[in-house]
Amino acid sequence: MSAHVIQGQKLAEAILDELKLKIEEKNLDQQIGLATILVGFDPASQVYVANKRKAARRVGIRSVHYDLPEHTTQEELLRLISILNTDPTIHGILVQLPLAQHIQTDKIIESLEPSKDVDGFHPLNLGYLLVGRPRVIACTPLGVMHLIRSTGYNLFGKHAVVVGRSTIVGKPLAHLLLQANATVTICHRFTTNLAEITKTADVLVVAVGKAKLITKDYIKPGAFVVDVGINKDEHNRLCGDVDFDDVSQVASYITPVPRGVGPLTIAMLLRNTWDNYLRSKT
Ligand code: NDP
Repeated sequence: MSAHVIQGQKLAEAILDELKLKIEEKNLDQQIGLATILVGFDPASQVYVANKRKAARRVGIRSVHYDLPEHTTQEELLRLISILNTDPTIHGILVQLPLAQHIQTDKIIESLEPSKDVDGFHPLNLGYLLVGRPRVIACTPLGVMHLIRSTGYNLFGKHAVVVGRSTIVGKPLAHLLLQANATVTICHRFTTNLAEITKTADVLVVAVGKAKLITKDYIKPGAFVVDVGINKDEHNRLCGDVDFDDVSQVASYITPVPRGVGPLTIAMLLRNTWDNYLRSKT
């Protein structure tokens, strides 16, 4: 068997095109504001923010960027967020993670006005997801759900295994899968016999951050495999948590890295900004 490769890049472009059209139709070009905040000079974070801003410009969302020096204090960052929280021209605030050690990430996330939290990381937004009345949902889990649904795959009653339990990927994704009526298992660092569990997965989503952790020995034949991980391989090339060539031989669907989940994460960020704008007008 050779798995069908899902092209996340194409799906993301379709979402961005649709958003651009909606913004044009309503004469809202540059009327919706997304503020991005980057503290320090982490090269990967700089690339991520640049890609997000590029996508915002593409759809007609006004991108306002704050490039803050490494030594920015927590108080200075909180002051900036407080100004953006009350700025009526800003509908989304994104603080690029990870933050420097001297800044408490939780405090920063909790200081965001929940209706402007485009990442869905604020505890209130996570709580809404938990009780089944989601408002802002984390972008990567949203992207994963879109990838799965784009194929027409029916999650109802399926066993979905999520490897990784972070607040930004694994946990919110597990709730979305649960709400789609899958039976969900979450695995983590202390899970014993990981392969025994993943081999029972109809749908396997891996969000760990370990290059090629998942080989075909972890896969039930015909499984739907989504790779969230972003790593560098031994040749310094981008790769996921899934050994793509190996797993492609047994899975029915698989996402590549790059051009899989990553572009959808960005598309969902812009869609969240749009949704925040719409909610602000009701
Ligand atoms: P975290 O480091 O926050 O979480 C990693 C999770 O993996 C933890 O829950 C950890 O368990 C678990 N884990 C670690 N080692 C193992 C193991 N050997 N077996 C099973 N579970 C393990 O990472 P993130 O969730 O932020 O990101 C995960 C990956 O996804 C990274 O590569 C990141 O770059 C990528 N990513 C990609 C995005 C995209 O848009 N494509 C967006 C966000 C992230 P424990 O909780 O016990 O420590």
